[in-house]
Amino acid sequence: MEFLRPYLDAHAVSINRFDPLDRVHTVGASDVGQCERKVYWTKNLGDPDYGAEPDADYVDSYGAKLRGTMFENVFWAPGLKASFGGRLLFAGEDQKTFVSGYLSATPDGMLTQLTDTERYAIADMQAGGGYEAVGTEVMVECKTYDPRTNLADPKTENVFQTHVQMGLVRELTEYKPTHSILSYTDASWWNEGKEFVIEFDPSIYANAKKRAERIMTATSAEQLQPEGWIGGGRDCEYCPFTRPCGVERRRVPDAAALAALPADLVDEVIKLARAIKQMDSAIDTETAVMRELQDRLKTVLRNASVRKVPGVVSWSSVKGKSGWDNKSIREAAIEAGVDISVYATEGEPSDRLQITLKG
Ligand code: SF4
Repeated sequence: MEFLRPYLDAHAVSINRFDPLDRVHTVGASDVGQCERKVYWTKNLGDPDYGAEPDADYVDSYGAKLRGTMFENVFWAPGLKASFGGRLLFAGEDQKTFVSGYLSATPDGMLTQLTDTERYAIADMQAGGGYEAVGTEVMVECKTYDPRTNLADPKTENVFQTHVQMGLVRELTEYKPTHSILSYTDASWWNEGKEFVIEFDPSIYANAKKRAERIMTATSAEQLQPEGWIGGGRDCEYCPFTRPCGVERRRVPDAAALAALPADLVDEVIKLARAIKQMDSAIDTETAVMRELQDRLKTVLRNASVRKVPGVVSWSSVKGKSGWDNKSIREAAIEAGVDISVYATEGEPSDRLQITLKG
């Protein structure tokens, strides 16, 4: 029970300057790397033909987004402005949205008129990067991250976002940023963080444009892949459309088999079934190799009596999760005369795809 929380929630809504309708006709740089099916449904929210009903129990948590916005507006952008002055463009109050076709971006800032010393410093941060490749303009992007995150590398969707930002600025202005400095700050300890330098790749920008067009011109979710699910489900954890997506993915056709199957259909099915079997067996092999390597690494650390090699590996004990012995609880409830049938639940329906191809 909380007394103040509702007032804070209301304030969060009132100061959230992002309006989804602003970008209803484009895919933003921060969205374009996300699951394409989720982006499609988000863009078509409320549309009776193309939209989908969001999950009834979905809660749009504003916390992480608001944290990022606050940090950027109150600390990060003013901090950079204080040092770079007029050389910092498109930041803070001067933020600007760039739009080309179906793609849009609102970068966090761009540093201009870089000195040779600054260019050398940026080149030094980039593994294998040369000073000559760093131009006199670089984009800067602000992120905060949960300290529990293992941020050995920048997040893929953030890297994609930087390419889109650089591409749009290069296409629509006289500036030609060659790199982006992706600046992550630990959300708990603002004096800690990591920075990554991303070199502009025109082919990634071209891909992003095509991807945005494909999402915005699709006429059904079926035309777009459930990339969140394909990628292991991390995106799905924060997706408002898990139910319609699950229904779509599990949709089994009525007919078990056609009397006469077209030859090209059979060919394609065999090809895919064989590829799945091969991949399945490759995963088993790779998993065994990976476990063997993990065991060897632990043995090396154990023999050396160390748990950590800074910046490389950290090994620690993890306490077991506490849980409930449901079987005993059920038996005790029955013995106590409780009608447990009233607590029965039914899980979400699922589907099973069995590959029966031999060999
Ligand atoms: S549930 Fe996962 S796969 Fe489906 S739309 Fe959402 S993010 Fe994509």
